[in-house]
Amino acid sequence: MSLPPSIATLPARTPELVSLLEAWSHINSGSGHLAGLERMRAALRRDFSRAFPAALIDEPELTGTSARALRVRLRPSAARQILLNGHYDTVYEAADAFQTTTRPTDGTLRGPGVADMKGGLVVMLAALRAFEQTPAATQLGWEVLVTPDEETGSHGSAPLFIDAATRHRFALVFEPARPSGDLVRSRMGTGSFTATCRGRAAHAAQVPSPGRNAILALAEFLLTAAKIPDEFPGVLVNIGNIRGGSAATNVVPDFAQSELDVRITRVADREPLLARLHALAAPINAREGFRLELTGSFNRPPKECGPEEAAAFAAWQQAARDLGQPAPNWVHSGGGSDGNLLFAAGLPNLDGVGPLGDALHSDRENVVIASLASRAQIAALFLTRYAAGEIVL
Ligand SMILES: [Zn+2]
Repeated sequence: MSLPPSIATLPARTPELVSLLEAWSHINSGSGHLAGLERMRAALRRDFSRAFPAALIDEPELTGTSARALRVRLRPSAARQILLNGHYDTVYEAADAFQTTTRPTDGTLRGPGVADMKGGLVVMLAALRAFEQTPAATQLGWEVLVTPDEETGSHGSAPLFIDAATRHRFALVFEPARPSGDLVRSRMGTGSFTATCRGRAAHAAQVPSPGRNAILALAEFLLTAAKIPDEFPGVLVNIGNIRGGSAATNVVPDFAQSELDVRITRVADREPLLARLHALAAPINAREGFRLELTGSFNRPPKECGPEEAAAFAAWQQAARDLGQPAPNWVHSGGGSDGNLLFAAGLPNLDGVGPLGDALHSDRENVVIASLASRAQIAALFLTRYAAGEIVL
């Protein structure tokens, strides 16, 4: 099989890809750092418009924040279309000590967002550039949608995914691959809930006590809530924090509160799980003097694996093999991404198609340098085959 030259020669462009990644990584774009997000968006806009002078570029508004997304479209009226999704925010805020890149080993680059997911954006840009030089390119329209709030739950970007789903039937999500090279088959849905318990304050020395100890009642609830995963396989419950009472230990505390991180694998578990949480609160609420309230919601629904994902993944593996690369596997991930929101909006997607990354969300975050070009090759070959109608999704 002969490869299009622009795809075959991608590895030779690695130094250029690394320089671009270093430049992007050095722009702090923590989700809460609006000025930095603006600088990052301007850099992306400049680099994408240089690569694709004919592209239509706009910066759609988000709900509830002044940060904006970046959208780049080429051939929007082509019969076949694909969405390429990414985010340009990172977890490292303006005051974070982790601001620059280093080379811990010859083959890796360490730095803020080098894998999650400025490295993914480098792979996306390199793949599109290589793809545009192939004859198949004229047959495919593409849209890049890059958002600034993925790391904080994508609350402002969510409507953009619903909107994109009206124009597309399939999306590629450039989140990093696992350190092993695995893509993401499915992702857990994430929810956060707050349990607030109110009792009655009293002097600790009064016997019998008119007090109602809110800490004890809440602890009782939390111990049972933590056991929910025993009944619901594929569910995770983490008691993240707890507060309440006062500095005075001679007072029966009338207030205690805890935040729970709840994750589900199947959409179908959502309602029964909520019902179970409320059922566990009921016996405490039945006691005189106590009130246990549960607030919160699921933010990202789970991303499941449908037939389109399975077909796209098989084509992805084949592209890797045809490039002489090991065919990647894929795994279930506990973490959410915008792949979850796209899936919920009715847009099947292949997630984790970015470079091989490790130690994400820490000051050891790093990326395998060679995977910038090798993953861009797979993406570009996939796009040429999709454009030519050889992959049907
Ligand atoms: Zn990410």
